[in-house]
Amino acid sequence: MAIAEIITIGTELLLGEIPDTNSQYLAKALNDEGFDVFRVSTVGDNVTRISQVIREALQRSDLIITTGGLGPTIDDPTRDAVALAFDVSTVYHEELWEQIEARFRGFNRLPTENNQRQAYIPANATAIENEVGTAPAFYITHQGTFLCSLPGVPSEMRFLFAKHVKPLIREYLPTNAILLTTIIHTIGIGESHIDQLIGNLEQLQNPTVGLAAHMGSVDIRISAKAHDTKSAQEMIQPVLKSIQALLGKYIYGYDQQTLSTVLRDLLVDQNCIMVFRIPPELSKLDNTLAQLQLEVAENLDKNQYNNTNRRYIKMDITLHPIDKKTRLTVSLNDGSTNSAEDFTFSNDISAFDEWVFNRTMGSLYQFLKQ
Ligand code: ATP
Repeated sequence: MAIAEIITIGTELLLGEIPDTNSQYLAKALNDEGFDVFRVSTVGDNVTRISQVIREALQRSDLIITTGGLGPTIDDPTRDAVALAFDVSTVYHEELWEQIEARFRGFNRLPTENNQRQAYIPANATAIENEVGTAPAFYITHQGTFLCSLPGVPSEMRFLFAKHVKPLIREYLPTNAILLTTIIHTIGIGESHIDQLIGNLEQLQNPTVGLAAHMGSVDIRISAKAHDTKSAQEMIQPVLKSIQALLGKYIYGYDQQTLSTVLRDLLVDQNCIMVFRIPPELSKLDNTLAQLQLEVAENLDKNQYNNTNRRYIKMDITLHPIDKKTRLTVSLNDGSTNSAEDFTFSNDISAFDEWVFNRTMGSLYQFLKQ
């Protein structure tokens, strides 16, 4: 598999002033293109340090994409850093200067002398016209490696990647690989417990298995790389089966399914109407449950269920402070079965609503599945 590496350039990234969304976008896009993304590095606006990272990257990666540092000022170091990494000079391109002037004319402005810097690119580079900004991008092919430098502004970077870079790398580095991912959603079991049960699967190379913990719920991702979708599916199947065998009752859905849509379908299937009592502090949960109830009622009407077989579920939620924590109790009763679960919250308050939602809905899910 071809190895890709992303280098984001900008001192403001290192100062934590802006989040590095370019890496996130490119990592996903390159994985989708079938590359193994092994490294993401961030370097400040320093020619020597950037050229060092590029030299290292050239030793180990087939594809290198840099973003940022292509602006018109002396602080925009990428052109010089790339040239230094290849031991070449930068060369002025009249046609790039004309493109820059044309862009400025389009804005009814004149380029400054500084903008002329942007018409220089490394001697071994080919320019990529930037139709949505002023900084031209460029790419270099070198001993089987493809390097490309894109502007930092996320909208420009994405546009140029999709329009120009994707076709170029498909031509220069055909991976013939696709990445297929299945997500398993679980509720009512903690990340460490899942880890104990499926730890051996997390060691696999292809497909890979990874966990993503949310407040009160955990997703398990299975990703397979193969030449076509069918082969990738065949690789995912046995792993999926093993996880289902180990975690079956905690799995509430897959991929795009959400806890709300799964619960709505279960409540409709079981001909249920919910009655709930929610403390005033949990107004968000109250709204969510009211919305869910509305969708269930609409679907029950559509299905013309018989009223006499209707199952009424009473949900009673209470909150109690204990020490510096909060205890949530979810009691459910349908006239013949009772369940009551206690949960304790001791996390950051910003995560409270998500936690309450997942705990409450998780209890309801287990109640409906018994
Ligand atoms: P331009 O000349 O079009 O400004 P540039 O290549 O010089 O492009 P930078 O000056 O490095 O780009 O960055 C421009 C802006 O883009 C930054 O101020 C920042 O807001 C945003 N940006 C840069 N890098 C990233 C990144 N990795 N993730 C998200 N935003 C970024």
